[in-house]
Amino acid sequence: MQVMESEEEISTKEFVFALADGQLEKAFQMTSIDDSLKTILKQPKNEIILHFPVKLSDGKTKLFKGYRVQHSNILGPFKGGIRFHENVYLNECKALAAWMTWKCALQNVPFGGGKGGVKFNPANYSIEDQEHITRRFTHALGNNIGPEWDIPAPDLGTNSQIMDWMMDTYSNMVPAHEKQAKKGAVTGKSIVCGGSQGREEATGRGIVHCVTQWANENHLPLANATVAIQGYGNVGSNAAQILHRMGTKLVATGDHTGYWRCPEGFNPFKLSEYIEDNGNLEGYPGGEKVSRDDFFATECDIFIPAALELQIGEHEAKLMNCKVVAEGADGPTNLEGEQILADKDITVIPDILANSGGVVVSYYEWLQNKRSEMWDLEDVRSRLELRMKYTYQQASEKAREMRINLRTACYIIALERLQAVYERRGIWP
Ligand code: GLU
Repeated sequence: MQVMESEEEISTKEFVFALADGQLEKAFQMTSIDDSLKTILKQPKNEIILHFPVKLSDGKTKLFKGYRVQHSNILGPFKGGIRFHENVYLNECKALAAWMTWKCALQNVPFGGGKGGVKFNPANYSIEDQEHITRRFTHALGNNIGPEWDIPAPDLGTNSQIMDWMMDTYSNMVPAHEKQAKKGAVTGKSIVCGGSQGREEATGRGIVHCVTQWANENHLPLANATVAIQGYGNVGSNAAQILHRMGTKLVATGDHTGYWRCPEGFNPFKLSEYIEDNGNLEGYPGGEKVSRDDFFATECDIFIPAALELQIGEHEAKLMNCKVVAEGADGPTNLEGEQILADKDITVIPDILANSGGVVVSYYEWLQNKRSEMWDLEDVRSRLELRMKYTYQQASEKAREMRINLRTACYIIALERLQAVYERRGIWP
């Protein structure tokens, strides 16, 4: 099997890391962060690349390529998702791991940043094969993960079933009497396996809290506000459903199979049912099928990119006709795209804030596992709401005070927290 990436693929993904680095540099210019700390934070601590064989159900053995990048653990164990996607690359994981560091520091949860994945398309493999790939990957990671060291979670192409297999495999690699203490080695598990109420919807719900805060600040009533969502996976669909219950209208959506528009508003529950039956939106019978450009040009109040990184460049930003962009995906807007949005007076609620609800509830799951507790859904939801709204408020005040955008304000809050710890602890020896 071909496991090396092509030149072309490498350069696109390096661009993702260049985006993360460019955002960081902008924040550095606005703060007095120590030079040695800048040097440390610009690169991850560890970059792990694994090749592991899996015997598939057709009897053939295939070699898979997996990654885990551990960016920083100064605030707590490395934390972040695992992607199953054919386009997972090292430089992408490096960017995503750094974004996790800023996300956790911004939300003041005691975690650092990490990210990883396996380079394959799960849609091309049976459930049995996906289980074998997951278990062999977890085995190959070995002691590179653990509840006090590095804690994976769901991301693109993974879900609670994958996390249950990861947790089960990891706990089978430790002595029997330690198994129970290892549940928190992975978050985003199913409830029956030690997951938390409210984890699955948490990223979508967190986006809605940010949008609500932004709407209050800008005196925009959410009832009848119009929404466009790119990507209809866990994040996009949960945000769509919660926003629908608040009276908004989903006027455009789409996934990798195409884009649809419906001025009267889609029923987000029907879209989810369709995906449940068909795997994606291809052939969706409602609304009108439109081009990608028409999708981006849709007039709406709230635009939520909840698909892949680097979706809003110069071209898309010029087309866009919305009031706010709430980044559900990590890194969906490039630097040029962001400048054009700013020139058009479109606010961007950045990924490290907008989509941080997932890792916040992962923290609650990890705490419940540590304490052998089971919190109710209402408890999780109200804690998440308080934390999201508080952090949004802090970022918004910082942005106003310093006359900067929300992204740089979020970076500065995160960097100042990291700096405070480095100042006290110093660099050993
Ligand atoms: N994959 C999610 C993110 O990127 C969740 C991470 C986590 O819960 O650790 O924010």
